[in-house]
Amino acid sequence: MELKPGLSALVTGGASGIGEAISIAFAERGIFVTVVDLSEEKGKQVTAVIQKINAKFHQNLKFPSALFVRCDVTNSGELSSAFAKHLQTYGGLDICINNAGIYTALPLHNDPTDGSATWKRTINVNLVAVIHSTILAVRAMQAAKRPGVIINMSSSAGLYPSFADPAYSASKGGVVLFTRSLLPYRRQGIRVNALCPEADQLWYLCCEVAADNANLEFVETNIGSKVDPKFVTLVGGFIPMKMVVTGALELITDNTKAGCCLWITNRRGLEYWPTPAEEAKYRVSSSKSSRRFLQIDPLDIKLPQSFKKIVVDSLNHNFRAATRIRCAPLTQPINPNHVLVKILYAGVNASDVNFSSGRYFSGKGGDIARNLPFDAGFEAVGIIAAVGDAVNDLKIGSAAAVMTYGSYAEFMIVPSKFILPVAKPEPEVVAMLTSGLTASIALEQAAQMGSGKTVMITAAAGGTGQFAVQLAKLGGNKVIATCGGKDKAMFLKSLGVDRVINYRDEDIKTVLKKEFPEGIDIIYESVGGKMFDMCLNALAIFGRLVVIGMISQYQGEHGWTPSNYPGICEKLLAKSQTVAGFFLPQYSHLWRQHLDKLYNAYSSGMLKVSLDPKKFVGLDSVADAVEYLHTGNSIGKVVVSIDTTLCQAVAKL
Ligand code: NAP
Repeated sequence: MELKPGLSALVTGGASGIGEAISIAFAERGIFVTVVDLSEEKGKQVTAVIQKINAKFHQNLKFPSALFVRCDVTNSGELSSAFAKHLQTYGGLDICINNAGIYTALPLHNDPTDGSATWKRTINVNLVAVIHSTILAVRAMQAAKRPGVIINMSSSAGLYPSFADPAYSASKGGVVLFTRSLLPYRRQGIRVNALCPEADQLWYLCCEVAADNANLEFVETNIGSKVDPKFVTLVGGFIPMKMVVTGALELITDNTKAGCCLWITNRRGLEYWPTPAEEAKYRVSSSKSSRRFLQIDPLDIKLPQSFKKIVVDSLNHNFRAATRIRCAPLTQPINPNHVLVKILYAGVNASDVNFSSGRYFSGKGGDIARNLPFDAGFEAVGIIAAVGDAVNDLKIGSAAAVMTYGSYAEFMIVPSKFILPVAKPEPEVVAMLTSGLTASIALEQAAQMGSGKTVMITAAAGGTGQFAVQLAKLGGNKVIATCGGKDKAMFLKSLGVDRVINYRDEDIKTVLKKEFPEGIDIIYESVGGKMFDMCLNALAIFGRLVVIGMISQYQGEHGWTPSNYPGICEKLLAKSQTVAGFFLPQYSHLWRQHLDKLYNAYSSGMLKVSLDPKKFVGLDSVADAVEYLHTGNSIGKVVVSIDTTLCQAVAKL
């Protein structure tokens, strides 16, 4: 959501602390604000400040640019009236900040067990009222049928225990899981996120609010002893209010954020919780649950006597010169543990030229040419057309993906253990194979990507780059992307990239030096040559540069000439940096898990998969498609339709 004048926000606990700071940040963007608070005096003061700032954006308004509503958020009638007043004045609600919260220093065992219990008040203010307010905000946003963002204020004590106030921790933990469970509202354009600041001055303010709200005199007397200064030093000091506001604004402006929990600490910056790796541990694989799997009538799959495939019959980095289309018999029955797949779509990869030049076999030593002829193509999706007698878990007519060599073919026979069951044999699924899996696994394993880092992706608008930028963004990082061309730059902006560098218009080195003087934490590098050198120089202390490929070196006059990197040891040593290689075939044990993750993100709308619009049809067009990718003009994934008739039939299902 773009923060622009004319939007409206309601902020509970808006009279002081974080609520006040966020309300003022809204006013500085011309946003109308309703300040909801128990404290009339402070609430009116803040409202007057907001109106003054807002006057720069709005003249001759027929309504006030900020409202104050006195309200105890635990009183459902008062809270509902506050929302009603906001909607009456501003005609809708774009942003709701459920910020009101209290804290107590009263030891749990001293808490009364009757109606005056402070733990109950804590739960009521911090959790029950947040749930109530969220319901009111969701209803208002649904009624207006326009996008909305809700931020529920939690705390680091909602992520891990707070021994000082267990009830506070319980309430904030409740807010975290309540908020994360609201992810599905994203489909209605309503994004609900939680903010979890650590050791901010809110702790003190909460004490004041607690004292105000619940008349807890003892709190006031204990304020000084409540937050142990040693602990504050240990966690890196109080976090500046500016950092909390930055986090809140990020959750509002970043349209990919829903059901997210942003943890803010001085030690680690802004970090999303849980990390994708943590989340993967408890998520149920959709291949075993809700995903609807396509099933084709086996009678619709015609099995010919023979089929065509592309083979490499001479080693050459020029794919066209190295390959030819060959006819092979389709002998039945197939081997007991094998599966026959009818290919619908095959994916094109930069490395097709490395494969045709024999580079994939060079590690095995000896005469590479003795492997000739070999089948070309790395990845495809299709329909299972026949299964061997020993295959019980795969059905004829179901959709499958394959990532073994030989996918530039009308049919493939592969061992059943290599079949990746997929919901539908769509071209988007082909894109998720080599390209998507490389991004997903390399960022997790080789880059060890967390949150709150600066991540740079080169060749970012390409097959694998498009996934890398989105996964880095979804992980809560600042993303820089390089590309060559205006259309690519626009495409990357639409994916949420923070800084696109179109190297045809701007010098990458100059931009990085000026705008990122601290260096880049993680670089996903696939261009090689001068780009690699530049990336290495731009790496931050502790930075990780992952070598994904070197496309600029693949097709020199004599093929791929390895580069020399003098001084690389000295450079890495001086800044404790890491240069890590990544080669997807070595991570086959993670393919299924990551493919599920990508498919889930894609089907829930969190991840976009873009295909290059240029159409390539039939095996005859594969060499054209490979050459097209190497022109550097493609955007997204280049895919070849192998059987158009079946592709169309499947697309209609
Ligand atoms: P792609 O990114 O769809 O297409 C290649 C892009 O590279 C071009 O659009 C172009 O974009 C850029 N490029 C830069 N210099 C180039 C040059 N001299 N010639 C042609 N293009 C150039 O291709 P991809 O299949 O997804 O592969 C991208 C990289 O990832 C390759 O290096 C590939 O080998 C690597 N990869 C590695 C693995 C692995 O396991 N390690 C797996 C998959 C892919 P801009 O001009 O916009 O930069």
